[in-house]
Amino acid sequence: MDPVKRASVGARSDVRDDVRSDTRLEDQVKDWLCYGEDLGLGPYYRDRAPLHAIAEAAAAPVESRGVATPKRISAPAPAAAVPTVMAVAAPGRAPATPIGVASSSASQKAATAAAMKTPPHAPASTILPATNAPSLFEAIDGIAGDTLQRIREDIGDCTRCKLHKGRTNVVFGVGNPKAELVFVGEGPGHDEDLKGEPFVGRAGKLLTQMIEAMGLRREDVYIANVVKCRPPENRLPEKDEISTCSPFLMRQLDVIKPKVICCLGSCSSQTLLQTTQGISKFRGEWFDFRGAKLIATYHPAYLLRNPPAKSEVWKDLQKVMAVLGLQPKKR
Ligand code: URA
Repeated sequence: MDPVKRASVGARSDVRDDVRSDTRLEDQVKDWLCYGEDLGLGPYYRDRAPLHAIAEAAAAPVESRGVATPKRISAPAPAAAVPTVMAVAAPGRAPATPIGVASSSASQKAATAAAMKTPPHAPASTILPATNAPSLFEAIDGIAGDTLQRIREDIGDCTRCKLHKGRTNVVFGVGNPKAELVFVGEGPGHDEDLKGEPFVGRAGKLLTQMIEAMGLRREDVYIANVVKCRPPENRLPEKDEISTCSPFLMRQLDVIKPKVICCLGSCSSQTLLQTTQGISKFRGEWFDFRGAKLIATYHPAYLLRNPPAKSEVWKDLQKVMAVLGLQPKKR
């Protein structure tokens, strides 16, 4: 299958072929065990040597792979910013560290100020304007006086696209309206549709574990999706649905003004970055998105099908933590 077609299949249906190994098998196994432990999956072994590999990987310069569209920013995580607690097998849990309260060291600030690059641009945009909302990149400065409440009211009992026919609830988004970190998924699934809240099913539980492994609580971050209504049979959102609904996500991001946006899977990253490239081409790299730093990682639903990819995701989350000055959950 050609890479563009493969990319369009999205988080729920594939990226299996996209996973690339950048580390030796031994390092991957270490990362995986470490990640499993940080997610509270239980001890896999007694002692763990310091995981220099993680620090080295995080500190490694971003490799230019010569892809056509994505424009990256430099890797912002110096080795020193990688939480050393990752190297220690300590029992017990520390209280969650709310985002925004962590100190900002000079090296962290320097890391955060790493040169910004602009998002990858797709060929001609297929985004269509939606009623009462600016087109995808039209509202450069956002809508003056916009609020999450206004956006929710504007969505209303939405019938703008065909997804409304099968939905139970509009799944708007949840979390801290002033979050420094926003996770963006694809669209609600069955559980989310019933509850009206994003990421509450199996993939959502894994996302919550990931957030907690970062030293945060779910309520510290904001979680939203590209489309607010459940696609039938959990199929991928279609172009017209994305173009109709995504302006509301843009408004949410403009209002929240997070420092970091973490896209989960192909759909959200391709939508925000306006690219058709496969996520494996730009996963784990930094982009400038309307004043925020954007990073894409694999979707938790993909991780449920492909647990070894968790080590890659943990590396991406560590980069986010370095930018936000977060320490991983102490165990
Ligand atoms: N997958 C998503 O992309 N979003 C959700 O809200 C749930 C699962």
